[in-house]
Amino acid sequence: MPMSTLLKPSIQPFFPPQRTLMGPGPSDVYPSVLAAQAKPTLGHLDPVFVGMMDEVKLLLQYAFQTQNDMTLAVSAPGSAGMEACFVNLVEPGETVIVCRNGVFGERMRQNVERVGAIAVLVDSEWGLPVDPNAVEAALQANPDAKFLAFVHAETSTGARSDAKALCALAKQYGCLSIVDAVTSLGGIELRVDEWGIDAIYSGSQKCLSCVPGLSPLSFSPAAVEKLKARKTPVQSWFLDQTLVMAYWGNGSGAKRSYHHTAPVNALYALHESLRLLAEEGLEAAWARHAAMHLELRDGLEKLGIEFVVPTDARLPQLNAVYIPAGVDDAAVRSQLLQDYNLEIGAGLGVLAGKAWRIGLMGYAARRENIALLLQALGNVLA
Ligand code: PLP
Repeated sequence: MPMSTLLKPSIQPFFPPQRTLMGPGPSDVYPSVLAAQAKPTLGHLDPVFVGMMDEVKLLLQYAFQTQNDMTLAVSAPGSAGMEACFVNLVEPGETVIVCRNGVFGERMRQNVERVGAIAVLVDSEWGLPVDPNAVEAALQANPDAKFLAFVHAETSTGARSDAKALCALAKQYGCLSIVDAVTSLGGIELRVDEWGIDAIYSGSQKCLSCVPGLSPLSFSPAAVEKLKARKTPVQSWFLDQTLVMAYWGNGSGAKRSYHHTAPVNALYALHESLRLLAEEGLEAAWARHAAMHLELRDGLEKLGIEFVVPTDARLPQLNAVYIPAGVDDAAVRSQLLQDYNLEIGAGLGVLAGKAWRIGLMGYAARRENIALLLQALGNVLA
């Protein structure tokens, strides 16, 4: 047998350091979620595994507060959930009102245009929520619009938009709503059915404190109708939800069939993180995030640090704060990482170099983390 031409690499096992993750995500993963992921892998059509998927669906319906049958986890990160909404629901030539008040609203625009549809932008200043009056004006000016798309919790700025009011406007003007809940799910109030949300996606790695790489998604019956009435096939085979549902179950009780090999162990992790959320209770989890945010805010204000977002639009789980004048952004973050094993986030987009993003997401939204952060940041800035 001929010798391989590349030399055999000698690599040691990888042991990551134990960090405290207080950036924009991924957040600290619950220990029992990490343990769940290490359990024996099952076949993705094993009846025991399929039974667990049914529980994941139930738990997702609870987390989203929806009875939507099409509720599942896309086998890829939040960006895939975003793309799944646009490629399945929006057809070439259709008009979508896209609200843009940060990086992720801009990504929605790119998705709309890649689908071959027309994005009508409603821009708000970074750090501010989406303005419902401007959205209503855009809906009035574009009577042919079929969708309203916005980010509930803009991770790039820490601003929370009024999803309930925006979805009511979408309904009033005959549009379907597409909502990014990557950072909101589990951290702030979110009620899919009551607020009339038509398509929503999230991420496993934020307030669910699960491992990264999965995107919870839910489509209302009206969104499913729109999908079924398409004149053109969904251009992405992998993200085509009509095919994916044959694996996740379409409510008809039909036998599940292979679509792709599910990330089995990551789904064990999602099951455990959603189970923990249900055990705590949604309202209790929202209240915990709100209370921890207030403690963090008080401590940061004592250090003379100011928030980017006005008080009434602040996300408790994502605190964007201005870097004090004269302070070296990167040096502070790397000292926190090296000396305290503590990660905070850099500013993104127009806030790069101007702001830090301090996450209090899921398992990270705990008093001991806040104490560590305030102590460490106080020492580094002294
Ligand atoms: N949308 C928002 C609001 C986000 O914060 C993120 C990630 O930070 C995404 C979408 C994309 O998610 P992912 O990085 O998991 O692909």
